[in-house]
Amino acid sequence: MAITIAVASGKGGTGKTTTCANLAVALSQFGKEVTVIDADISMANLELVMGIEGRPITLNDVLAGTHDIKSAIYEGPAGVKVVPAGVSLDSFKKARPERLLEVLSKLEEECEILLIDCPAGIGKEALTAISAAEQLIIVVNPEISSISDALKVVSIANRVETNVLGAIVNRVTEDSSELSARSIETILEVPIIGIVPEDPNVRRSSAFGVPIILKHSDSIASQAIIELAAKLVGKK
Ligand code: ADP
Ligand code: MG
Repeated sequence: MAITIAVASGKGGTGKTTTCANLAVALSQFGKEVTVIDADISMANLELVMGIEGRPITLNDVLAGTHDIKSAIYEGPAGVKVVPAGVSLDSFKKARPERLLEVLSKLEEECEILLIDCPAGIGKEALTAISAAEQLIIVVNPEISSISDALKVVSIANRVETNVLGAIVNRVTEDSSELSARSIETILEVPIIGIVPEDPNVRRSSAFGVPIILKHSDSIASQAIIELAAKLVGKK
């Protein structure tokens, strides 16, 4: 049985896809068999960050009912298996999002660790992904709007009985206007399991379609994500 972890956020653009891609690679480097699925079907971009864009069969085809989930699993970097959603609007239009729950439970049977790159917010697909997962990681930025939106996700997770592993505070610069990890923990009432600094290498790596952990393994963001992966596999 797989360990299924939804990676979600309240606000958009906090760093879910970056986290999913890099955490997947880091966990794989710790010897885990990891699959990552792009459940943000309307704004899919995991495949770009992981450098596997343009694959013929995607989650959208599976959701359209024309293909089996097994045919949408591809070998990505560092041995991570990736289920891309397909970035084209046409493929999105064919998809029937109401099938996501069924597809996720079928995919779980194939995995050891399944990371779900969720859409932002608490819309239908986000809710499906969060309730399908056993565990939730919430990615926030150190600003009040991000935290206030994240609160809603935490409360939804509690309602559907998905365990909140904790929050990752991403894009931390130590600017005095930022909320501290301690205040975020107090507001959200969940543990802070990772603090990832603002790092220009994140964007540079994404532009090359290579997760930062592989392109700049010594960079500050990579180190923070590797540390988090070590914690998750119990090596720290
Ligand atoms: P989401 O999936 O939550 O919408 P992304 O992972 O796509 O967010 O990240 C949004 C943007 O922020 C991207 O341009 C990404 O390169 C950038 N980004 C994410 N994390 C960091 C970081 N730690 N440092 C700098 N830029 C980052
Ligand atoms: Mg994303």
